[in-house]
Amino acid sequence: MLRAKEIIESLPKDVSLVAVTKTRPNEVITKLYDLGIRTMGENRVQELLDKYEQLPKDIHWHLIGHLQRNKVKYIAPFVSMIHSVDSLRLAKEIHKEAIKNDRCIPILLQLKVAKEDSKFGISPKDIDELIPELLNESYTGIQIRGIMGMATLSHDHNQIHEEFKELKKLYDYIKDTYFLDEATFDTLSMGMSSDYSIAIEEGSNMVRIGSALYR
Ligand SMILES: *Cc1c(COP(=O)(O)O)cnc(C)c1O
Repeated sequence: MLRAKEIIESLPKDVSLVAVTKTRPNEVITKLYDLGIRTMGENRVQELLDKYEQLPKDIHWHLIGHLQRNKVKYIAPFVSMIHSVDSLRLAKEIHKEAIKNDRCIPILLQLKVAKEDSKFGISPKDIDELIPELLNESYTGIQIRGIMGMATLSHDHNQIHEEFKELKKLYDYIKDTYFLDEATFDTLSMGMSSDYSIAIEEGSNMVRIGSALYR
């Protein structure tokens, strides 16, 4: 827990922290809360719901893990941001449930650049098909705030640098092509405990840090 304070203080002012609280008990999350952290990330819907119920209501909850369409309805009333939007169908479902709740939900498009097969995410080659579709039909229940991505879990720093560089390039491309005049497209979510320093060097402005906070 001592590390949490150190990490918070070491982050540049323009980089925001999502404290990843998955699998951590409420007592531990409360300690982060007492340090002033208000943005927490969870990767499972049921766990997110339980914690939302039990913990202070001024916490901004971010869903960072893969989301099934049939579970969107449970989090739509309160979730602050969904990082893991990886298909048009999921985006449409979030829109639909947001409207039912009179909300507009901030989302990030999860892009896949890592070489591992297991990672979810939109393939960069599909971007120019997906984004115009989302913009054309005026999905007023979602606001595309940026992109999220992960690097391959690797000890090869060069590879991690290259993958984050690629994500930053895609972020800039999407912003310049589709969101030029929109200040609301402003979030590049990349970097976890093992690689957040590299991610920040490559332009991340939102890091999702879990395990390193609890050491
Ligand atoms: C668990 C998780 C993190 C945090 O991982 P740590 O290595 O514990 O920092 C970040 N992003 C996503 C999508 C995760 O599932």
